[in-house]
Amino acid sequence: VLRMESVRKTFGGSVVLRDVCLEVAPHTVTALIGASGSGKSTLLRCANLLEEIDDGAIWLDGEEITDPRADQDAVRRRIGVVFQAYNLFPHMTVLENITLAPRRVHGVPRAQAEERARELLERLGLGDKAGAYPDRLSGGQQQRVAIVRALAVRPRLLLLDEITAALDPELVGEVLAVVRDLKDDGMTMVLATHEMGFAREVADQVCFLDGGVVLERGTAEQVFGDPRQERTRRFLRRIV
Ligand code: ATP
Ligand code: MG
Repeated sequence: VLRMESVRKTFGGSVVLRDVCLEVAPHTVTALIGASGSGKSTLLRCANLLEEIDDGAIWLDGEEITDPRADQDAVRRRIGVVFQAYNLFPHMTVLENITLAPRRVHGVPRAQAEERARELLERLGLGDKAGAYPDRLSGGQQQRVAIVRALAVRPRLLLLDEITAALDPELVGEVLAVVRDLKDDGMTMVLATHEMGFAREVADQVCFLDGGVVLERGTAEQVFGDPRQERTRRFLRRIV
């Protein structure tokens, strides 16, 4: 689904991603782990073309999206994104938040967009919240609405950046359960996370980033169970 080759990203003079290669197969979950500042969010932002890369190339479904001739808006429409702070529009109801992009960007008729939204809300246990305003919802519920919103446009790929980081511990579980469900449904996802237990459980592929380099990559079992690199070992020892 997604392929990155020798991606390099600098901010000012400093290199934030160095020679990053990543391959995401259909219906798999890739977890990006690594210390704060290692480049996880930047990698996700590059994949969604929110950041322009300095070198290398990125493909989505075989199409080079970093090609200057690529239609960036069309690319972003195929990628759903959820960030740490659930950026719901406060003056819109849950249903309006979810149907905005399908209606405005994809031209889906209102009735059809709402039907899909209600279906997704039901599935994520939010069936009774369609008419609520975001400030009436718990953090976990808001984050689940943000996930529904990302799913509403039927993306090929879902990018999740620390989606539990802003949540109280007791709300983390319900959001992670949603990710687990999406995985069972075959959704392709790349997620940056500090939840190592979750990454280990849900990820098919784990990439350990260190100073903008993918220092280690493998199955969850391999990276968590038997890391090859001393730095990975040190990181995991500190965190787990
Ligand atoms: P965290 O776990 O804290 O979310 P991260 O792995 O997501 O960290 P990034 O946010 O990708 O890390 O940041 C990687 C590096 O890039 C950091 O050193 C950061 O300061 C730098 N950086 C990120 N965005 C910008 C920007 N817009 N301008 C300048 N530097 C940036
Ligand atoms: Mg980050």
